[in-house]
Amino acid sequence: MTKLTINKYAAKKIVQGIAVLDARDFPGNTYSEGFAELYFDHQLLSQAYFSRQNKGIGWAVKSIDFIQLLTDAKNKRQSYAQDTATTAYRVFNQDGDGFGGMSIDIYEDYALFSWYNAFIYTLKNEILTAFQIVFPEILGAYEKVRFESKLPISSHIYGKMAPEKFIILENGVKYQVFLNDGLMTGIFLDQHEVRGTLLEHLAAGKDILNLFSYTAAFSVAAAMGGAKSTTSVDLAKRSRELSEAHFKVNGLALDAHKFHIMDVFEYAKYAARKKLSFDLIVIDPPSFARNKKMTFSVAKDYHQLIADALPILNRHGKIIASTNHARLSRADFLDELKKGFGTQKFDVIETFHLPADFATNPSDPQSDYLKVFVLEVK
Ligand code: SAH
Repeated sequence: MTKLTINKYAAKKIVQGIAVLDARDFPGNTYSEGFAELYFDHQLLSQAYFSRQNKGIGWAVKSIDFIQLLTDAKNKRQSYAQDTATTAYRVFNQDGDGFGGMSIDIYEDYALFSWYNAFIYTLKNEILTAFQIVFPEILGAYEKVRFESKLPISSHIYGKMAPEKFIILENGVKYQVFLNDGLMTGIFLDQHEVRGTLLEHLAAGKDILNLFSYTAAFSVAAAMGGAKSTTSVDLAKRSRELSEAHFKVNGLALDAHKFHIMDVFEYAKYAARKKLSFDLIVIDPPSFARNKKMTFSVAKDYHQLIADALPILNRHGKIIASTNHARLSRADFLDELKKGFGTQKFDVIETFHLPADFATNPSDPQSDYLKVFVLEVK
């Protein structure tokens, strides 16, 4: 394996436990794509690999023995594997499991691999062989290619083909998923604890508004948790059919559950005009969005979503404010929320991070990208 002597800046981060390699710590492009051993002061600090991706130029890795890495990851998730009320969860999460650039999700009997750079993709056969040894119970697998390439972004990669759409369980609630249609699957698994809190206690008896609802997973969890009504808003036309399917598979009548295919900013105006109001508003936008009229970024514009929600929120109402923007810190997100509240006082009554199956690197706050605050207005 290539031996590479690194500078003190790169060494310091590795000693701290940060796995992602930052281009600024490798001036002069002294590395080449592939595995390397990183040395500082004649000492081996870590094994690593280089491959440019959206985040960084490579990863320091715990091991290159995939059987070992996958076995450790599987052992960590025993409680998920044994829980018959939940059949979808993450089983390998990048640097949280010792090897960045790859994640693996279980959806019932199938696995979904995500590849984040070109080098890890060259290791695919080795990784799939190891995976089938460690997870013989998985019947088939799909992949998502999450780096720039000419490859299809979604494909079947081994074993049995999954039905085009099928049902997984989470806390006993049914969700319809699809593993081979674009990058998304019908559900964002990292939000399972937030859906859990809606199901268990936050939603009962409440009128709920779900903004940026996608397939209305939060609304379904809320409805199953006894919500009086749910209203889901998303501008993607397809979201209506996918959302309705979620309600139907759980045996929920649609009378109390509405969908609006609409821009959320337009919806807020419409709701205020119609004097609609809600007990709980969920706001979970993409980090960046663009439509014909405007661009939206969580870091700069989230406050506007809060400001627009307040006039349609009942007294003592709650907001679930969520973002998965990795480069926005929790503190900066909270500042953005405060800006939205202006002079309106509020309490933070619950917070969420990534759940345990989305193992994070404890030394690197950026790897815990999910930030969710449950806020109550005073
Ligand atoms: N909250 C969802 C995930 C949201 S994904 C969940 O828990 O499953 C982001 C969604 O925002 C996409 O479905 C996209 O269509 C929608 N979206 C983006 N910009 C929008 C806008 N201005 N108004 C309404 N929906 C928007």
